[in-house]
Amino acid sequence: MDELIFENENILPESSADNNFQLEINFSENSELNRFQNTLDNGDFVMLIEHNSVELDNDFEIAKERLAQLEEVVLNIKSVNAALAITDSYASANCYKSIDYAMGLSPDNRDRHVIYLSGRNSSLDDMKSNLSLAQSGKFKNIVAVTGDSVFGEGVRATQKRTFLESVHTLQLIRRNYANLFFDGCVMNPFQYTPYTLFPQYSKLVKKLNAGAKFIVTQAGYDMLKLQALRWYLGERGLFFPTIARLIFLSPEIVEAILDKRIPGIKISNDFKKILDKELQFSRNQFESAQWRRLELQAAGCRLLGYSGVQIMGIDTPTKIKSAADRIAGALREFSNFEQWLEEYNAYLAKVDMAPISGSFYMYDRVLRRSYPETPPRISEFKVATLTNKEKILYNLRKFMFHAANKQNSQNRRFWKILLANCRTCRNCRLPHTFYVCPEHCPKKSANGPCGGVKANGDCELGNFECIHSYMTRLAMWKKEVNTLEDDYLPIEGIDIQGDEK
Ligand code: SF4
Repeated sequence: MDELIFENENILPESSADNNFQLEINFSENSELNRFQNTLDNGDFVMLIEHNSVELDNDFEIAKERLAQLEEVVLNIKSVNAALAITDSYASANCYKSIDYAMGLSPDNRDRHVIYLSGRNSSLDDMKSNLSLAQSGKFKNIVAVTGDSVFGEGVRATQKRTFLESVHTLQLIRRNYANLFFDGCVMNPFQYTPYTLFPQYSKLVKKLNAGAKFIVTQAGYDMLKLQALRWYLGERGLFFPTIARLIFLSPEIVEAILDKRIPGIKISNDFKKILDKELQFSRNQFESAQWRRLELQAAGCRLLGYSGVQIMGIDTPTKIKSAADRIAGALREFSNFEQWLEEYNAYLAKVDMAPISGSFYMYDRVLRRSYPETPPRISEFKVATLTNKEKILYNLRKFMFHAANKQNSQNRRFWKILLANCRTCRNCRLPHTFYVCPEHCPKKSANGPCGGVKANGDCELGNFECIHSYMTRLAMWKKEVNTLEDDYLPIEGIDIQGDEK
């Protein structure tokens, strides 16, 4: 059962932070329209507290009452623009849907919070009903995610689940719920090879083209990667509000990350050594080290151009209040990039946050200056190698695909099974995917990789290459990496309006 840790704590009074602080607080009761969106539009910094929906064995009404208590704490914070980000539980598939759980939030304040809608176990129709529920519940801010695999489940069990890609949810919102939602997407900048990083960026562009209006990053610690994302968005003229997801680490969360119970989050060996050292003396010392880390990261994010932070691992009213006070304090403490960089370097510079050696960063000289050269200098990288067998197979598939299409259906099927292990989809997407069948992804993600892909490019669910790493290696070989962001691929057998093909 999910432990609701704040149960016995008093609901705290208003934050005691310095009320003379100059931060613009936009979450006032009088604001109209969408207060979360207004705050981002005004360029004011936001602190989202991430809170998971509860597991099914909880009494739902009691859980929602506790959520309302937590909300009251958040709404009483005056030092920073604070709100909740309600997500599905990453730890379990047996939890209440985030949108049902979010109904515990006060109707008058739902425009302040952000609700994540996960595509895990969700068909297009399920997502339509989630969105209709969000609309009738007067929720305005949605983040579309494809959803995590379930810890402990392998490829087969994952394949049995339905995953609606976030790109499709965004398309659905644009088509059926235009102007009703301020919808965002998630992006994982914490990849360290060209063939794992480029597809994450390509997928981001697809999501923005599909209608996403703001971006939340995957959780991570590498500020170089966070700056590279901001530079990339600037270089492409993609001026979307971006929120960095940070983690307030506890020994339990570190253990869960190292056990791979939290998908897509990596801790490098160097960073692990630092964390071990911090834990060596006492839990209190560990906690104060994490507060300082959070302060530095949040202040750094603002100076890098992020519109806010979303913090995971803050689960009690006391911690929420501390996080607000500390972040507000850090924003006051660091008013310029150079001053912040000096402190950050003194605190963490020697730590290599990359989980693999020889890691790739999109740009040269990240985190040495606040603005890139114009245009930013893309780091040199080696085109990922393809074996002769892979090249021959690609050419064979390409040639035979077109030849097979001229055959009768039985022969066509035979050739496609032989060459691409065809699953006989009703709308074949092979010509758009470098002849790699998206049905071989355990989540059947056709439009780009999920956030869980491993540092070496393997699938999060096993020791085999993620289909999108493979496709990117092929695209690099063919010098067609740019095409990865172009093709919007529909759900197998269904178009976006939900009509069967
Ligand atoms: S193949 Fe890639 S996109 Fe699919 S589940 Fe594995 S890591 Fe995620």
